[in-house]
Amino acid sequence: MNNDLANTIRSKVDIVDIIGERIPLVARGKNFFGRCPFHDDNSPSLSVSREKQIYTCFSCHATGNVYTFLMNYEHLDFKEALKYLGDRVGIDTGSVKVTKKNTKFDKLYEAYNLSLKYYQNNLNSTVGKEAKKYLANRKINEDIIKEFEIGLSLESKDDLTKLLMSKDYDLVTLNRIGLSSDNHDIYNDRIMFPLYDVFGKVVGFSGRIYKDNGQNKYVNTKETDIFKKGEMLYHYHIAKEECRLKKSVIVMEGFMDVIRASTIDVKNTVALMGTALTKEQINLIKRLSNNIILCLDGDDPGQKATLSIGDTLLEQNLEVKVIVLPNPEDPDSYILKNGKEKFEGLIENAINFSDYKMKKMRENVNFKSDEETSDYINNVIKETAKIDDPIRREVILKRLAKEFDIGYNTLEMRINTLLENKEPKKEVIIPKKESVKKDKYIKAYEQIVYFMLNNDWVITQVEKERLIFPTEVMRTTVSEITYYYKKHGNINVADFYTYIQDKENILIFLNDILGSSYLEKTTKDELFEYFKVVKEYIKKQEINRLTGLMKKEVDPIEQAKISEKIRKLRLGDN
Ligand code: ATP
Ligand code: MN
Repeated sequence: MNNDLANTIRSKVDIVDIIGERIPLVARGKNFFGRCPFHDDNSPSLSVSREKQIYTCFSCHATGNVYTFLMNYEHLDFKEALKYLGDRVGIDTGSVKVTKKNTKFDKLYEAYNLSLKYYQNNLNSTVGKEAKKYLANRKINEDIIKEFEIGLSLESKDDLTKLLMSKDYDLVTLNRIGLSSDNHDIYNDRIMFPLYDVFGKVVGFSGRIYKDNGQNKYVNTKETDIFKKGEMLYHYHIAKEECRLKKSVIVMEGFMDVIRASTIDVKNTVALMGTALTKEQINLIKRLSNNIILCLDGDDPGQKATLSIGDTLLEQNLEVKVIVLPNPEDPDSYILKNGKEKFEGLIENAINFSDYKMKKMRENVNFKSDEETSDYINNVIKETAKIDDPIRREVILKRLAKEFDIGYNTLEMRINTLLENKEPKKEVIIPKKESVKKDKYIKAYEQIVYFMLNNDWVITQVEKERLIFPTEVMRTTVSEITYYYKKHGNINVADFYTYIQDKENILIFLNDILGSSYLEKTTKDELFEYFKVVKEYIKKQEINRLTGLMKKEVDPIEQAKISEKIRKLRLGDN
């Protein structure tokens, strides 16, 4: 692989942009922080350095440069990542051949693509007339049909099955991948909405009835190897980009809501598709933005879902706001009735989740009853205790005191008890990696390795001293650093990462070093102080070894020789 080309391209992009386009980053000091996408992260553990052009997660082992990030995040191989970045900065990577990876799911994706084309074709032919009329009635025009690749399955019982069998799919496969049941099509006479995975590949369908025939409104593809309902969010692949621009994500219930919002140019949206919110979906939402706007249906189930989903998201330290639609509208019907500006106004004025929750708590309270009133007040205080901002807490309590004519101090005392027992939030402080206790020798060795990565001349010094490093991973790392430097005539961490991208043990080791607070620059005098420390270590090790040897030795002459060696070593020891 041509590392020079890789390094040239890398030097023209900023890792902060590339990662920032994918996950929300916040600047803190010299670095940028975000929730690490490589583990289940509740606080921003991923640090991105503009200066060094690398990222490091303080909690998991993730570390690397812009290439390793893209490879891991977008599931690309190195050449694909290179090509992607090359295209971005206008550097020709034509000589680099990207070989299409064959995955064992290719046949599956292909079947879904064939089905998609088939359904689209149906809708656009004469058999699709009635379905088109239904869609037109719902104000779904040709542009939307194209954009969301809407199609139609036919009344006939086995057209798609036959079509796919003519393309070498057998019935067992078609049954397994959720397109046929025995030798029949799964979907009959339904408007077909393709469902996409996070990359925008079609992995399933949702089929809607369009004639009143008493059947289930929607039929979704069953779970397959590539379609896991609880692990996807409708529209995620489009929302990725949009959420970054708008700095928020709007969560809706149904894909019709998302489609409608898209027609008024609100595209930072995802739909839950009628499932309870799963852990995987929460992680996906976190990738989109830390600012979440819930815009569920205005009916009773929608309001209930808002409360429970809001609570779950709040526990994840996310900023949660709520759009309240009039009962029983959903975003689709609301937008149709009220238009773009009104809906944008709702987004603009979305209320804090805690305010929403407190408003909901008022409902159905009989304020003539002392008991219900005091229950209500206690509940409000409990909710208020969850709010981090002390000023907002005070505002709420003052309002409460005034409304119910209670002393503010009484309320304050109550909330203080709750606040004292509250688990401290992990967030805000940048988590320092819990490092295993290292003695001063190991620390000195690691510091030297880190100096090598940041100061060319240290590499030469280490070689001159013929320093031996105590662990296997240190030895390989040092030898790779030296090799890299000799080959390129210079070194920096980001490019070195490209070179060692496959060597996981080195990556883990570097992550550990980068997560500890070692110095970057040094002087010769300083460096020699570190050399002294490690030489002392080498000597100690040697003395230990010889002492062991001497104890085992039976020949007194040999013993004396060893003892003399030890004495000499000790003498040199000062
Ligand atoms: P429409 O406007 O076409 O009636 P909607 O978006 O209002 O659709 P809801 O009834 O609010 O649909 O349901 C929200 C989501 O839940 C849908 O997008 C769909 O994914 C899922 N869903 C609804 N009904 C069913 C069902 N019977 N089986 C499977 N999924 C369903
Ligand atoms: Mn709905």
